[in-house]
Amino acid sequence: MTGYIAPLRLRLDGDALLSNWRWLARQGGAPACGAAIKADGYGLGAAGVMQRLKSAGCRDFFVSNWGEAAALEAQMDGVNFAVLHGVRDEDMAQALASRARPVLCTPGQVARWKAAGGGACDLMIDTGMNRLGLDWRADLSELVDGLEIVTLLSHLASADEDSDLNPTQLARFRDVRAAVPAQRYSLANSAGICMGADYGFDLTRPGIALYGGVPHPDAAPHLRPVVQPQAQILQRRAVIAGDTIGYNATHRAERDMEIAILNIGYADGYLRGFSGRGAALVDGIRLPVLGRVSMDLLAVDVGARPDVAEGDWLTIDYDLPQAAQASGLSQYELLTGLGKRFGRIWT
Ligand SMILES: *Cc1c(COP(=O)(O)O)cnc(C)c1O
Repeated sequence: MTGYIAPLRLRLDGDALLSNWRWLARQGGAPACGAAIKADGYGLGAAGVMQRLKSAGCRDFFVSNWGEAAALEAQMDGVNFAVLHGVRDEDMAQALASRARPVLCTPGQVARWKAAGGGACDLMIDTGMNRLGLDWRADLSELVDGLEIVTLLSHLASADEDSDLNPTQLARFRDVRAAVPAQRYSLANSAGICMGADYGFDLTRPGIALYGGVPHPDAAPHLRPVVQPQAQILQRRAVIAGDTIGYNATHRAERDMEIAILNIGYADGYLRGFSGRGAALVDGIRLPVLGRVSMDLLAVDVGARPDVAEGDWLTIDYDLPQAAQASGLSQYELLTGLGKRFGRIWT
């Protein structure tokens, strides 16, 4: 299908991505600022994100698993590349051959890595989230003896809210830092960066804010949107007063109107939470979504724009904090759900 032009696309703003990374790097108060590019770069396309951030000077990248790492192996020269879920038995052959390092998370992973003579690694300590990582309360000295730890990490559970758990995790992380030798220490994700330089240590690990998500209201003026979904009009049609629109006839036209059917739906990540709530935008004019979002299609009211026609491209309103409010989804879900059918076009 060479030359195929998809009827829906993501416009990806490379300048905005770099501007966000530079702001986060300054704000984090750490000598280094990395990038979480798991889940295909939060839906933008990990290869494109990594290439751009690398050219701007980013030298630390994080993915979840070795499938994601394999796809980026060719770009790993000169950078630290970490696999957050560590190594299972099934991953060992690839991990030993890769330039990426595992972030060891369990006593079993540590034992496996030591037994294989795996060399440099990263280490995850759980300081209160009770997700992945070695328990901060455990006596770690024997376990980590002989490990060559480049980065020791922990992850904040509630950095996006004003919670007692934040200073608690910070204090525990300081204790761990005093007890476990590593080249560098890293605690803060995007929201952690917004809590100030105390949380910065040697390396920060933003994800969502790189891509235009707003982890804290104070950060909103400094972060630029990166992702703009656009879809093509497949049909423009007249609807007569009393007609219904879409599955289950959830929208009934009160008057004669003009609608456009766009080539985007819930299979593309534009989920049904936007039914009757989302909008397309033309020159700042909102064209509301009418009725249910279908798998591959949706309807918008184009009465305000007699000029838009079959074949035209409309931008979907995807302001992340507002779209999260409107749809009941998190900003993370709004990005990582963006499907495979979009053309991904960097500008
Ligand atoms: C996903 C992730 C990040 C990035 O988090 P954001 O909230 O997107 O900034 C950082 N560290 C770890 C361990 C993660 O899993």
